[in-house]
Amino acid sequence: MHCTSLLVNCMDSRLQGDNQTKIAGALGLEPGDFDVLNYAGPSLWMADPHEPSHEAAFRWQFENVCLNAHSVKRVGLVGHANCGGFALKGAPQTVPEEKAVIVASLQNAKAKLAKDYPQIEFIPAFVTIGSQPSKGLPEISVEVL
Ligand SMILES: [Zn+2]
Repeated sequence: MHCTSLLVNCMDSRLQGDNQTKIAGALGLEPGDFDVLNYAGPSLWMADPHEPSHEAAFRWQFENVCLNAHSVKRVGLVGHANCGGFALKGAPQTVPEEKAVIVASLQNAKAKLAKDYPQIEFIPAFVTIGSQPSKGLPEISVEVL
């Protein structure tokens, strides 16, 4: 098994399925060519995890599976509006303030990862979510940072 990329996505149901494919596409990741790891507030995983042991769990999967087994070269790092993972951390629940906190976290995570894995390209993105339809996935828009 070999693939070039990893998408670190939120576990949020609104960002799965076709929306995950759309996010990956905006980041230049091809279907069938990226691994996926999910966490509640993805950038918190390596920058401010919900439990201290979580960062080691991320790094074990990233190093042993994504880098060593699959030869990943590029990582998309997702943040999104109305994120429960950030709500658990006490992030503001108003639109511009929440986004500022999440974008800062994405940049912090990118800087930390780029220092530890200088050979890997890290691409953060912020996803805005439209209103929830009665069935199926909401519309999203992806801003590559
Ligand atoms: Zn989330």
